[in-house]
Amino acid sequence: MRFDDLDRCPFCGFGSFYEKQQVRGTITYRMNFTVEERYEADNTDMYNSLSSTNSGRAYCDDCNRYIGNYITGVIGKEAERVLKEKNNE
Ligand SMILES: [Zn+2]
Repeated sequence: MRFDDLDRCPFCGFGSFYEKQQVRGTITYRMNFTVEERYEADNTDMYNSLSSTNSGRAYCDDCNRYIGNYITGVIGKEAERVLKEKNNE
C-alpha cells in the first residue's frame, strides 16, 4: 500500500493531514503613521517572499501521529502495522 491509496488517517480515521515546513526569508511589514491605522495597512503579501521546503512528512490533523511521506509515497511503519491489523479483522 502506498500513501496515495489512503483516504483517511490509518490511526483515527480523520480526513486531513499536515506537514511541517521549514521557512526562510525576510518579510516586509507595512504600517501607517497614525495610531488608529497602524495595524490596518495591507500586508496580505507579506509572506510571498519566503521560501519553504516540503519534507513530505505527513502528520494527522487530529491525532498528530506520523502517517507517512506523501512525496515518496512510503507509509510509516506504525501506520503500516495498523493497516495490516485492520485488513486481518
Ligand atoms: Zn489520526
